[in-house]
Order: sequence, then C-alpha cells, then structure tokens
Amino acid sequence: MTLDFEKQKLVEELKRIKPKRVLVQLAEGIKQNSNEIADIIEPLGIEVIFSGETSWGACSVAVHEAKELNCDLIVHFGHAKFIDVDFPILYIEVKDILNLEPLLKKSLKELKEFHTIGLSYSIQHRHEIENIVKFYEKNRKKVILSKKSGHAAYEGHIVGCEYSGLKLIEKEVDAFVIIGNNFHSMGAALSVAKPVMLLDVYNDEVKNVEKLREKILKQRAISIQKLRDAKNVGIIIEVKPGQKFGNPKYLVTKLKEQGKNPIVITMSEVTTDKIMNFYNIDAFIELACPRIAIDDFAKYPKPILTFKEALVALNVKTWEEILKIGIV
Ligand code: SF4
Repeated sequence: MTLDFEKQKLVEELKRIKPKRVLVQLAEGIKQNSNEIADIIEPLGIEVIFSGETSWGACSVAVHEAKELNCDLIVHFGHAKFIDVDFPILYIEVKDILNLEPLLKKSLKELKEFHTIGLSYSIQHRHEIENIVKFYEKNRKKVILSKKSGHAAYEGHIVGCEYSGLKLIEKEVDAFVIIGNNFHSMGAALSVAKPVMLLDVYNDEVKNVEKLREKILKQRAISIQKLRDAKNVGIIIEVKPGQKFGNPKYLVTKLKEQGKNPIVITMSEVTTDKIMNFYNIDAFIELACPRIAIDDFAKYPKPILTFKEALVALNVKTWEEILKIGIV
C-alpha cells in the first residue's frame, strides 16, 4: 500500500496560511510516517510538534493542546472535517493508492443477486470512487452513493458514528457495498437492514457482514439488561470536541427517577485501567464515541452502553425504535 500525503496541497496551504508553529495530528495507522511529514513541513521554516495522543477520528481535533502549546495551526492527517471548532485546522485526508480492480471483480460474484447497490467509502478511497462507480455500471449494476448527511463530509463518505446517509438511500437499494475496513462495514450493518458487503481493501477480501450484526445485537441486549440491574452508574463524558453524543444532565435525572446513583465522569480517552479504578460503579454510559461501547465490548470488565442504549434501558425508547434509527 502506498500513501499519498497530498504534498502539493499541504505545501500550498502552509505557504498561504504562514503558520509559525503547527501541531500535527496523525491518524493511528500513519503515526509511523511522522519523519516524512516533518521533512515536508520543516523546510518551509515552520516549527512542528507531533501530537502523541490518539487520533481515531476528526472528532478528536487537538484544539486544547494546540492552544496550550502556542501553535497557530493544527494539521490533521487522515480524516475529513467533522465539526466546526474555534481554531484553524488544515485537513489532509491522505489517499491510499491501491489497485482495486481485482477486488471489485471478486465482489461481482457476491453481488450477483443484487441490482442496485448503495455505495460508501472511507475517506482514503475517495479519489477512486468515480472508477468504482464506472466499474459497477459497466457490469450492469445501478450505483447510488450514500447521502452527505450529518458528519459525513461528502456524498458516499462513511464515518464510524454516522450512518444516516446510508439510511436515506436504504429503500432504493438491494444491498450496500462498503469500500474500507471492518470498522465501517460493521457500523453500517448495525444501522441498515439490507445486506452489507465489505470490500476489505487491506486483506483483499469480500465479506458479507450480516452474521456479525446478530452477534453484536445479542451482546448489546445483555448490556442493556445489566444497566437495568445496576445501582451505581457512571456517565462518561469526553473532552474531545466532536465526542458529545448525548445529554448527561438528562441521564442523571432519568437514572435518579429510577432509584439509581449516577455520577458524571470526564475522561480524555476511555481505557480499561480508568474503568477498573471506578470499581464501585456497576455499569457505565459513555457519551463519547459510540463505537467504544459497541466494538470494545469484550475489553472492559464492566458493561458500557451508548446513549441510545441507555434510553432503552431506562424505558424512554424501545429497542425496536433504536434498531429502526440504527444503534450507532
Ligand atoms: S466519534 Fe468515534 S466513530 Fe465518530 S469519528 Fe470519532 S472516533 Fe470515529
């Protein structure tokens, strides 16, 4: 796999903005490329500081760090813009240069019975989307890109916590094809009722992720029951600018109404160690990234629920209502 760091755009933008000191955030998979990035930016006479904190999405733009370190710009690599913040940010989305044709050919067998495909891609494959659409059309498929909705930056763009753009086209398609990795396809499978195929570009595989959906939904139902049985409940709120999924005050009121003892806890990142230290807490509701509760289910010693799941446990919504809008 070759990565394209969009050097021309990066240099042009930096020359235009003229920052003196920049904070560089690299998505987790590209932190190893920090020297290469420094070699592009430093010759422009700009001081570079790399953030060593995790950067799982553009929800976690490091505004606080940048301000503390007197930086005048954040250069955020590997994600598209997610939210507006009160600090200048240059987004470099980074392209994966891959030959997708063999995988697309392979996918035709799996897609045999589907005529209209809903197509979504993770940001590193945006530059390929025209070719992908042409390929399927040449093979007599109708392609509809998921809508640009919510946190999605473009038509067809998929984000791990935003599937409304897929839901908006669900009625028109027979199946969804996700160009990317397990993370995005699993989120899609939990959000739509139509079949979801992953074109796993990193493992060169075509996967139907439907079975995974059933397994995860069962796990989520168990966590919901555990919150119903819990006495002491921790509501985790994140300090990352884009990770505000739900209203903690509302939850405190609802939990108290049901005889539970809620506390609100802030974390810069949810980890097993931090969770373990609150050993008096029976269950947690996290209002940070909804994927922490869903994907890392097995990692934590205590049940952790998303805001939507908590609404089910508290009888504000039914499980069926949440499934209809998508659990992510
Ligand atoms: S909130 Fe989670 S899923 Fe959404 S962009 Fe951030 S890390 Fe990704």
